[in-house]
Amino acid sequence: MRTPLVIGNWKMNGDETLLSKMQAILHTLDLSQTEVAICPPFVYLPAAQAQAVGANFSYGAQDLSDHPSGAFTGQISAQMLRAMGCKYGIIGHSERRALCGETDVMVANKAALALEAEIIPVICVGETDAQREAGQTESVILGQLKAVVDRIGIEALSRAVIAYEPVWAIGTGKAATAEQAQAVHRSIRSWLATQNESIAARVQILYGGSVNESNAAELFGQPDIDGGLIGGASLKPEAFAAIVRATG
Ligand code: PEP
Repeated sequence: MRTPLVIGNWKMNGDETLLSKMQAILHTLDLSQTEVAICPPFVYLPAAQAQAVGANFSYGAQDLSDHPSGAFTGQISAQMLRAMGCKYGIIGHSERRALCGETDVMVANKAALALEAEIIPVICVGETDAQREAGQTESVILGQLKAVVDRIGIEALSRAVIAYEPVWAIGTGKAATAEQAQAVHRSIRSWLATQNESIAARVQILYGGSVNESNAAELFGQPDIDGGLIGGASLKPEAFAAIVRATG
């Protein structure tokens, strides 16, 4: 019913050689039942566009501006990314929330602009270690999600992806257990169901945070986990391919 999706977030890493290696290995996989996307740094998007293979292998942007156009030095608009052929746009990644001061309002604006440009926003939500310790996981995550839903409307989630990424699991090697991740994915889907049952049943919810070739299958085997947003392991073609295979 929901197609598994694996997205690689390269962050500020990689080059065209890695893109070629990744393309070569992904080309060997059966992608008939799984979608894959790579989000390289902006400057590699033209090369990525030339290297995508087939409908289920696409690419996306790691961020997009919360403004449609104008005097915003260094920013890139959703329309520009669409013109580059981007299918996805990651928004609200915890690194951008923490390091660049990205607020819920900005994330909501990014979601609206992405949808207007026909880019699928990958809406990242996640709690810090301290918030989890304080028992605030659900309220933090649903708060981040509601800020976006209030702006774009629940129906618009039929053209969006949600990524649950506990901040304490990102780049730490300490992934959430399958049970921990499933519990949060379940609460997200249950809350969505209170708004619109059919959207809740259809929306892909990815897990991100130290996914690797050893833990991917167990995480992806959970009923409400529809794939992964992968950081570090998306820079290693063999490991990334193994993670994609783990959706099967
Ligand atoms: C991320 O940054 O989105 C991420 C999930 O990173 P990692 O896989 O390296 O934890």
